[in-house]
Amino acid sequence: MSRGSLPIYVEPFRLCDANASVSGSVAEKQLERIREFSVGTTDRIDVNLKFWRDEEGRNRIGGTIDTVMHTTCERCLAPLDLKVHADVSLLAIAAGASLPNAADDVNIVEVEDERLSLVPLVEEEVLLAIPQFPAHESCDMVAYDREAGSSQAKPEAKANPFDVLAALKRKD
Ligand SMILES: [Zn+2]
Repeated sequence: MSRGSLPIYVEPFRLCDANASVSGSVAEKQLERIREFSVGTTDRIDVNLKFWRDEEGRNRIGGTIDTVMHTTCERCLAPLDLKVHADVSLLAIAAGASLPNAADDVNIVEVEDERLSLVPLVEEEVLLAIPQFPAHESCDMVAYDREAGSSQAKPEAKANPFDVLAALKRKD
């Protein structure tokens, strides 16, 4: 499925009125903060947002943000493609308005002049979702792949099941 670009700005209160959704991708070149933090690079970030007014009349923004960050494993220092997923749960208020009661898992976003800039919001959610020490699930697999790819694989270096058997027999 081909996707368009995420709008640079939205008018969140109007979108909440209309119970609307906004989807699209943010391209790498738009991501100033992620570049600044040098946590890695990404080809694009996929964003799905819904806007609605909840039973208490508050303007809500929810949805998902997904990307793959090309970064480095903190454990083995090999390249790591890290899947990053964020669940968005925001409450939009006009800048300067008094803070509404909100549950702890809901973040408040201030909207100035009815307009909300989406890219900084998306970048912030991605930065928060990146683990502090990104690492492969299994670094051994990666090290083995690299060895096999860069030079002649050395099958004789693999454990020989007969050696194990021999060792067990010696124990008797
Ligand atoms: Zn690793």
